[in-house]
Amino acid sequence: MSSTGDNVDVFTKPEADVIVRSSDEIEFRVHKSVLSTASCIFADTFGVPQPESFKVIDDELDDAGGKDDLPIVALTEDAETLRVILRTLYADGISTIEDLGLLARVLAAAEKYEMAGIISTLAPFLHTPRFLESEPFRVFAIAYHFTLPETILIAAKATLLHPFPSSLPPELEYLPTPDVYHKLLLYRTRCEATLEPTLVDWMSVWIGFDESRFRHSIRAGAMDMPAWSTVDRGGCSFCVRGTYTTLNKYGVLPLWFIDHLERTRDMFKDRIEGPTVKSLKLLEKTISILPSIGSNGGCDCAEEAPLQLMQFSERLSDKLDEKLAEVSVQPTITHFGVISLADIV
Ligand SMILES: [Zn+2]
Repeated sequence: MSSTGDNVDVFTKPEADVIVRSSDEIEFRVHKSVLSTASCIFADTFGVPQPESFKVIDDELDDAGGKDDLPIVALTEDAETLRVILRTLYADGISTIEDLGLLARVLAAAEKYEMAGIISTLAPFLHTPRFLESEPFRVFAIAYHFTLPETILIAAKATLLHPFPSSLPPELEYLPTPDVYHKLLLYRTRCEATLEPTLVDWMSVWIGFDESRFRHSIRAGAMDMPAWSTVDRGGCSFCVRGTYTTLNKYGVLPLWFIDHLERTRDMFKDRIEGPTVKSLKLLEKTISILPSIGSNGGCDCAEEAPLQLMQFSERLSDKLDEKLAEVSVQPTITHFGVISLADIV
């Protein structure tokens, strides 16, 4: 695909007036007018008279002589990269780019040749679900480098679904400075911080409104409280006993519910999104440690608890997603002070 026998690409436009040669020696017969329209760097170069030799565009370009009497521009990009750029310029309908590395190289080349149209046309490919799922940190870095606010936020959200790397991974090669890493870490920390107050205020999640209206509703008997709650009816006679209980603002909590909240915290660290808190793994574990139901001083709440835990998890998930949506990628604070990123976000 990349080469015919004589290294001429399939890109053989009729009436071409210039040959673009890639670093791997593939030639593309194209038009100066197309390149000039897309890039002022090419426009400047082609704008001056071209006598016998082609003008050097910059230090990386050279006059490689003519072929079929056409000037040749030798570029440092490989054929794969140039082909994507040229196909886009000629509206050849690029429908997908399978390789994130290739996309990054294309965007870098477009930046070098000041082809803003190429960047705006191809940058949306960064939103390819496969890239966001498998390489969100790298997508974030590329988006940051190219100042793509929408993609920065989308990629930042996607990184929340992966454990945060403990050191700068090699795939973050596009990060211009380590500050970007801190910016991402700070965003993550702020997202993670949405969990704790929500868990502390778990009763508000359960009842679906603010605590200030809570006591009144309890008195009015209008509340459907979880079985393990001690607020309205003293709680489960088994679970509220002695050392098996812990106090919080909503009264005495069974140890198994405290444990459930602890494991919710742990799971959320590695996958920061609402649905994490209603994962089957989490619920099954809690249900498996519920006290035995019924006789011999057994637990009164365990019978209702599984269904109510599922309801609670649903509401908690929705609440967390609501809060996460409010978190934006904020300026990073470093030992240099506050880095202004207002132009990016
Ligand atoms: Zn109980």
